[in-house]
Amino acid sequence: MTSTVLNPITAAMTDFTATRAMFHLPAGVTYLDGNSLGPLPIAAQERARRVVADEWGEMLIRGWNTAGWMAAPGRVGDRIARLIGAPAGSVVMGDTLSIKVYQALASALSMRPDRRVVLSDSGNFPTDLYIAQGLLASLGSDYRLKVVAPDEVADAIDDNIAVTLLTEVDYRTGRRHDMPALTARAHDVGALAIWDLAHSAGAVPVDVTAGAADFAVGCTYKYLNGGPGAPAFIYVAPAHHDAALPALSGWMGHAAPFAFDLDYRPGKGIERMRVGTPPVIALAVLDAALDAWDGVAMADLRARSIELSEAFIAGVEARCAGVTLASPRDPHARGSQVGVRHPQAYAVMQALIAEGVIGDFRAPDILRFGFAPLYNDLADVDRAVTVLADILATGRWDRPEFHARNAVT
Ligand SMILES: *Cc1c(COP(=O)(O)O)cnc(C)c1O
Repeated sequence: MTSTVLNPITAAMTDFTATRAMFHLPAGVTYLDGNSLGPLPIAAQERARRVVADEWGEMLIRGWNTAGWMAAPGRVGDRIARLIGAPAGSVVMGDTLSIKVYQALASALSMRPDRRVVLSDSGNFPTDLYIAQGLLASLGSDYRLKVVAPDEVADAIDDNIAVTLLTEVDYRTGRRHDMPALTARAHDVGALAIWDLAHSAGAVPVDVTAGAADFAVGCTYKYLNGGPGAPAFIYVAPAHHDAALPALSGWMGHAAPFAFDLDYRPGKGIERMRVGTPPVIALAVLDAALDAWDGVAMADLRARSIELSEAFIAGVEARCAGVTLASPRDPHARGSQVGVRHPQAYAVMQALIAEGVIGDFRAPDILRFGFAPLYNDLADVDRAVTVLADILATGRWDRPEFHARNAVT
């Protein structure tokens, strides 16, 4: 794993006070849930108004050409590319992450037609596993999803494996897989590697090129702040651009969508991973959100993320009785979130949220706190620790209202 050493000189170069000022952070709220839904970038509001009123409203159908709507999935994809170490022209936006997992897995499997096993791990986000189960069932009963414990992945990569489908940063514990090492191992046995970057993109420096990922996918509503339901991205390594077929062969990925041919012909390069009509309004909002990254060096982001998460862990361990660390202690083995366990984690989190400290709960017993350097600072960490310590010391999490379950946790 590439470890980023804390470097006070580069850490001073990105102005995180300036990036924090780019977000609308509601008064009285300490927001540590950007790993689930990033906050509203102020610029996104004006951008949404413009795309709705000036483009859709005034241009109508002409917007596809005059406002560049048709090219938006690739244009925004290039901005994501910079954040994940991908070359321009290798990332495209669209659909949801679940759909992009399906596409990447189906493409990769078709490139290994003599193999039948997909390898994933029990720390993966369930939708990735569900999508794999559904896809494999449709391909035939000889296909199999093998799920092992996260620390058993390396040993489970053998020459039966067609594809490894792994999420780099564990959504509950923040444990980070060693992307270059596991990818190299997959390649050694002739398998392809798909990386889900849902909790990596915008959270840690990612380099899909150096890591030699074959495919990578991710969502943009977490650390990339694109808003609820923002479009997902898919990366295909340039070496595979001609071999990878999109599986979901929609007209927007056709070589000539407006020829209206009866037969599918894949478009050039990453364009073929487009499926249907792009979500123009959502892409405009995401595009505005990505402005916050323009002056950010990823090494600075990492240094700041480690500073915040280490301060949080130290504070929790010194001041909060009854919780235990669920995340790896070594910051280089973590992403940008920290999980702590408590037997009544759900109620404790509800009590925190009632007092304006917003994290989230992941079953069965994890309190999850995300640290997003663009807008979180040490004052947020201190407030979260202080409120958590007080809630635990007084036991006020045990009030009946904090035990009532909401649909979305
Ligand atoms: C958040 C997340 C998803 C969500 O998928 P959607 O299709 O956007 O709902 C999928 N996979 C991982 C690893 C995630 O963390």
